[in-house]
Amino acid sequence: MDFLQDYLLAARQKNLYRQTIAYEPVDATHVRLDGQIYLLLAANNYLGLTHHPRVRQAAIEAVANYGSGSGGARLTTGTHPVYSSLEGRLAAFKGTEAAVVFNCGYMANIGTISALMGRADTIFSDELNHASIIDGCRLSKARTVVFRHSDMAHLAQCLAETPCSGQRLIVVDGVFSMDGDIAPLEEIVKLAKKYDALTMVDDAHSTGVLGQGRGTAVHFGLEGQIDIQLGTLSKALAAEGGYVAGSRQLVEYLVNTARSFIFSTALAPAAVAAALAALELIEAEPALTEKLSSNSSFMRRGLSAAGLPVVGGITPIIPVGVGPAGTAVKLAEELRQGGLIITAIRPPTVPEGESRLRIAVSAAHDQAELSLAIDQIAAAVNKLKRGDH
Ligand SMILES: *Cc1c(COP(=O)(O)O)cnc(C)c1O
Repeated sequence: MDFLQDYLLAARQKNLYRQTIAYEPVDATHVRLDGQIYLLLAANNYLGLTHHPRVRQAAIEAVANYGSGSGGARLTTGTHPVYSSLEGRLAAFKGTEAAVVFNCGYMANIGTISALMGRADTIFSDELNHASIIDGCRLSKARTVVFRHSDMAHLAQCLAETPCSGQRLIVVDGVFSMDGDIAPLEEIVKLAKKYDALTMVDDAHSTGVLGQGRGTAVHFGLEGQIDIQLGTLSKALAAEGGYVAGSRQLVEYLVNTARSFIFSTALAPAAVAAALAALELIEAEPALTEKLSSNSSFMRRGLSAAGLPVVGGITPIIPVGVGPAGTAVKLAEELRQGGLIITAIRPPTVPEGESRLRIAVSAAHDQAELSLAIDQIAAAVNKLKRGDH
C-alpha cells in the first residue's frame, strides 16, 4: 500500500493535504477549539437557524415522538409522517406541483441526473458546477459537454454544434458555491427553449438566500420555467437532506428510479422536522433573508473599501482570491490565530492557481463583529501583498 503514503506525502508537499478538525459549536456563528472561542466565517448556515429555538425544539420533539433513526429506506418503512409535511411545504415554497426529499444534496444530484439521463442523451454542464453534479453526469453515462463558466455564447455554440438523438439537459449551480456569483438563468431558459433542452438548477446556496429565500427561479421571475429545482436542507435550512422540486410526474419518476433515493435508509426524523421548522420560519419572517442580504453587502463593501479584490455581487459567498494553495493555507492559519475561522479553498475544489479564502456570511452575524473581521482580513492580505509575510 505504498501508493497511499506516496499520495499523502505529495499532498502535504503541495499544500493540498486535508484533515478534519472537530470544532465545537457554541452558537450559529461561534465555535470552540482547544478552549478558545472563534468567529465562524466559513459555514453555510446562512440564516443561523441551526440554533433557533423553534428549529431545535422541532428536532427534539421528532426524536421524542418517532425515535432517533428512521429504520428503513423511503420506499419500505422509512417515510415517517413529517416527510409528507416537508415535501408538501417545499413544493409550495418552490411553486412546483411536488417535491421529494433525498438524504443529502449530493445524493439528490447523483440520483436525479443519473435517473433522467442515459447513453443516448447529452448534458450541458457549467465548468464550475458542484462536484455532485459532475459525479451525477459521470454516473449517467450521458455525453457531457462542459461549457465555459456562465458564458452563454459558448453554451449556445455547444447546443448548436452537438447533435443529440435523445434528451438534452442544461444544468447549473444557481449560486456557484466557491465564487458566489449567480447563474444567468434568463438566458439559459431562452436557450433551453430554442434547443428543446430540460433545465436543472442546483439551489444549494440560493434557497433561504435569494428570491425571498425561494431560490434563483423567483429571484429572476422565472417561476414555472425551470424543470428541475434541486437543493439541500443542510445549508440555510439548518438540518440535513436534499430535495428535488418539479412536476408531479418528475417526482413520481424519481421515486421509482433514482438509486440514491431507493437504496439508502431514510433521514432521521429529527433532520426532517428541523428542516420543516426552518422552512416555516423563512416563510413567516422575511426579516431573516433581509438581514442576510444586508450582512452580505456590509461585508462586501467593507472588504472592497479596505482594498481587497472583491467583485460585485449580492450573495453571502465572498471569495478573496490569493493564487497559490500555500498562500491560502498560510493566510487561513494566520486568521485563525487571530480568532477567525475562514476556509482556504484549494484544488481540486477550484482550478490550479485560483486558491482563495472563501468568506461566508450569515444573518446571525452582528455587524460589529463583521467590522472587526474585515479589518483583520484586510491587514493579513495586505501584509502578504507587501511581501513581509
Ligand atoms: C453543498 C452542495 C451540495 C451538496 O449538498 P449536501 O446536502 O451537503 O450533500 C450540492 N450542490 C451544491 C452546489 C452545494 O454547494
